[in-house]
Amino acid sequence: MTTEVKQMIIGGLSCAASSGDTFQVLAPADGRVIAEVALAGASEADAAVAQARVGFRLWSSLAPRERERVLLRAAELVEAEGDSRFLDDLIDEGGCTITKARGEIGYTADLLRTAAGESRRLYGDTFPNDNPERVSMVFREPLGVVAVISPYNAPLALLTKMSAFPLAAGNAIVIKPSEETPLTALAFGQLLLDAGLPPACVSVVTGMGAQCGAALSANPDVDCIALTGSSATGRLVGAESMHHMRRCQLELGGKSALLVLRDADPVKAADIAAQGIFNHAGQICMANSRVVVDRAIYPQFTAALKAAAEAIVLGDLRDEASQYGPLISQAAVDKVLAHVGDAVAGGAQLLTGGSAQGLTVQPTVLLEPPRDATVWCEESFGPVVSVVAADSLAEAIALANDSQYGLSAAVLTHNVQWGFRAAREIRAGSVHIGMHAFQSNAMAPIGGYKMSGIGRSGGKYSTEEFTELKWVSVSLEDDGVDD
Ligand code: NAD
Repeated sequence: MTTEVKQMIIGGLSCAASSGDTFQVLAPADGRVIAEVALAGASEADAAVAQARVGFRLWSSLAPRERERVLLRAAELVEAEGDSRFLDDLIDEGGCTITKARGEIGYTADLLRTAAGESRRLYGDTFPNDNPERVSMVFREPLGVVAVISPYNAPLALLTKMSAFPLAAGNAIVIKPSEETPLTALAFGQLLLDAGLPPACVSVVTGMGAQCGAALSANPDVDCIALTGSSATGRLVGAESMHHMRRCQLELGGKSALLVLRDADPVKAADIAAQGIFNHAGQICMANSRVVVDRAIYPQFTAALKAAAEAIVLGDLRDEASQYGPLISQAAVDKVLAHVGDAVAGGAQLLTGGSAQGLTVQPTVLLEPPRDATVWCEESFGPVVSVVAADSLAEAIALANDSQYGLSAAVLTHNVQWGFRAAREIRAGSVHIGMHAFQSNAMAPIGGYKMSGIGRSGGKYSTEEFTELKWVSVSLEDDGVDD
């Protein structure tokens, strides 16, 4: 039986690859081929950018209320038809549970509504000029063409986050989704077209990172790259962006710490820690994969975390009781198990988990890995949490900061001073007190310190990232010409 080929979208039109090549999309849950997709290369990336340049002129000249109308319509379509448009793809290609998929769909509608509101808020400015005969203003203008390169772990919500705000600001976009999850992105591109976005303003080029993604990154007509992905890819895309002297927005990896201070309830804290790491099998950039616990409550906390990990329900992705499913690929499983093996070889205690069945890795808890173990230093992007003891708040904060990453962090305490001290001293893009480290909000500036990236996405902060500032001044001096 031949599978129908899903074509890419360039300037609103369904297109095959010029080479005629395709690639297969596999379901992580059972390895079945769920689609053949057109394989975009450099020529398709360049064609999409050329379309976007045309689209940009049209879209940026529209009244803000017109852009707001399209984004609101997109939100309404997600609310009315989100399940039929996205649910199967999120579950089949993304390996999401039905609960996670529904959460992403809801967040997507919220992001689109938030971005719609931003279309009307591109305020400029004036500032005092020392010369009273001159007036100085600041205009805020869209950048132009934004290439949105997205990952597999939240294939709808993260794509929306990096697309809706640049559109609100008047930019045109070219989407290059993860090669693991192109179907969700094609459905999202179609949603924007159905909502009335001018066809030249959105393309979805379904190709590999090293070819199609790199071609977008190398294209001098791209004014900004908005990448959500690993720090390794961020480094490549960032270097190329500097070569072109253009803006880049990089949302990268994390190794977020959860601090459990000595006044926290150890059983409740373990439950919160488990939610913050095992959601979507740990394939969450902000997952609290490191937990630092005050030594006074360490025995109770670790016993409760073991129990919470062992109570996680793994099963059919369409069963609402299932809490997580498979990792995205065998390579992802191999990496996670290698991190666990390296930690145990270095002296860590494997409290629970540490094995995989198919692509599903058991919830895994490691105690006291060496500080140079890969599981402590590098992103595993799987359901593995490392727990270490600390004797003071200062030591806990130092351990949280003992990372090349700085995406998110969290503190469990009832002591306001301890919580705020941690919030001030932890070098991360967000710090949450009284909850775990994986928090999303369409209005919040999400992004990272250090290797976790450059720029912030969400709400007005995002919209501003996708604009240029221009100083415009006017002289009122009499030039001798009569009026
Ligand atoms: P990845 O870096 O492998 O791929 C991300 C995207 O970049 C894909 O579309 C890929 O095709 C593309 N790409 C790869 N090489 C490229 C190149 N040379 N030039 C241009 N594009 C290229 O990441 P992934 O494995 O898909 O996603 C997981 C990673 O994303 C994790 O590190 C995770 O922490 C991170 N992430 C970060 C955030 C955040 O908000 N900070 C959110 C989600 C995921």
